[in-house]
Amino acid sequence: MTRPTQAADPPPPLRDLNASEHTVVVDPATGPFLQGGVCTNCALAFFPTRSVCPNCLATKIDNHRFGPVGRLYSWTTVHVSSTRQVPYTVGYIDLPGDVRVLTTLGGELTALEPDCPVALAVDAAGGWTFQPILEEDAQ
Ligand SMILES: [Zn+2]
Repeated sequence: MTRPTQAADPPPPLRDLNASEHTVVVDPATGPFLQGGVCTNCALAFFPTRSVCPNCLATKIDNHRFGPVGRLYSWTTVHVSSTRQVPYTVGYIDLPGDVRVLTTLGGELTALEPDCPVALAVDAAGGWTFQPILEEDAQ
């Protein structure tokens, strides 16, 4: 009995995430933003940027800025973790362009409400969170 032979090696999986791109950029003129991408073929926007569009598989991707302001979709506080100091709060942020990002939340967490406006904040180490925009911040 012989084993079936493979005609050729299977193609490698698509390398769709572009790890060389910075995800958070601080522009001195406009403040921080998330560096994502938009497909030039089908206009799908995504974060983080990719080298292949997940919708149409096109490889021509332009840079696209997200933030610094979004809206909180939902959130939760984590009280048990084997890898991270607890408690910490994470949430989904809806950004213009129909992109939803899961991120750590910071700032005044008691001000969190569904659909509340949140702003991107970058710390000295380059870490980033979204924080609720308080009414006194807006004035
Ligand atoms: Zn596309």
